[in-house]
Amino acid sequence: MSTIKSISILGATGSVGASTVDLVRRNPDRFAIKALTANSNVNALAALAREFSAEVAVIADETLYSDLKEALAGTAVTALCGTEGLIAAAEVSCDLVMAAIVGAAGLRPTLAAVRQGKTIALANKECLVCAGELFMQEAEKSGARILPVDSEHNAIYQVFDFERATTVEKIILTASGGPFWQKRTDCLKNVTPAEAVAHPNWDMGQKISVDSATMMNKGLEVIEAFHLFPVQKDQIEVVIHPQSVIHSMVQYNDGSVLAQLGSPDMRTPIAYALAWPDRIDAPVPSLSLPELAQLTFAEPDLEKFECLKLAMDALHEGGSAPLALNAANEVAVEAFLKEKIGFMDISSVVKATLDKIDMKAPHSLSNVFEQDQEARLIAQNLLTQLAA
Ligand code: NAD
Ligand code: MG
Repeated sequence: MSTIKSISILGATGSVGASTVDLVRRNPDRFAIKALTANSNVNALAALAREFSAEVAVIADETLYSDLKEALAGTAVTALCGTEGLIAAAEVSCDLVMAAIVGAAGLRPTLAAVRQGKTIALANKECLVCAGELFMQEAEKSGARILPVDSEHNAIYQVFDFERATTVEKIILTASGGPFWQKRTDCLKNVTPAEAVAHPNWDMGQKISVDSATMMNKGLEVIEAFHLFPVQKDQIEVVIHPQSVIHSMVQYNDGSVLAQLGSPDMRTPIAYALAWPDRIDAPVPSLSLPELAQLTFAEPDLEKFECLKLAMDALHEGGSAPLALNAANEVAVEAFLKEKIGFMDISSVVKATLDKIDMKAPHSLSNVFEQDQEARLIAQNLLTQLAA
């Protein structure tokens, strides 16, 4: 049997995708790439498919399909497009699927991989926010193994005693606080997209960077943690830790608190997921605690970072609240990045959308998408009102 792990990378041209590719490139004797997907960057996708002799390359934007075919002319790579193509990439025969598409757009393909019982390295947290119950039920049914890539959840996964889950008192998610945690609330109104995406510790895609600045990211992660780990909603805590060195912690009933530490570089949790249950070298700076000298902590300010509160409330409310929260946030963040609304409008749009929805917990995947669309429409209408 071959010892080379074959991988399908959904969202290969993004930030997590690029870090995954970097690790594969450094370990050609361990990993091979079977399938790659991108939203619209045909050239980057085709270059990767050629470099790694992938079997399949998928462009999500169907209007770019002929460009992709042209870019792959003369190769043995099969070019595909659209949602069907993304699903085909997720279902390709392989040892591991890296789910690194951003947003609810990643749900269908990731779920397709889950239904086949595959091993999934899960970066796409929005999957669990929109359809956590369904997603985890499908994983249970098929036997799919979900390896969390999000650094906090990866940290918890490394120190959580799944055999003795009842001995866990709480899980503590650390949050950098983003670029604005020390700014006064009245100074936040006029921050620009460029300021919001300039994260002090992590180099990430635009959407998650804005989510970090509003702290919605931490809220989404609280919901993600609830689905990934056998804990109750009130056993999940958030603490600000601006150095992003302790990636998260698990507190046990005897008072022990176990943490995973490391330099803030996504290649550590990605390497963990790719190599699991083994470990591989990752090209990350080793941690020097004396150089850091200080690790600090603070309580999150839920008034200033209303998005975090809205997400925690949505988790407690359940039903369709997390799904609507995510949909409205995606709409609002996109509008903020296009400079159509201000930074503080993001939480207003999410809150107003949640106030308007009246939907029961989604009962099927198609119902998830119906409700997702409904919440997006509400949020879009609110944007129009804001612009008026
Ligand atoms: P990114 O924006 O850099 O990349 C997203 C990828 O998804 C790209 O390959 C893009 O082409 C693809 N994509 C975007 N929209 C799509 C669509 N509609 N259909 C199909 N493909 C689409 O994002 P990222 O920062 O790499 O984040 C990816 C996911 O990982 C997100 O869910 C994010 O929350 C999570 N995550 C990221 C980091 C990080 O350090 N970047 C850390 C933890 C978790
Ligand atoms: Mg994270």
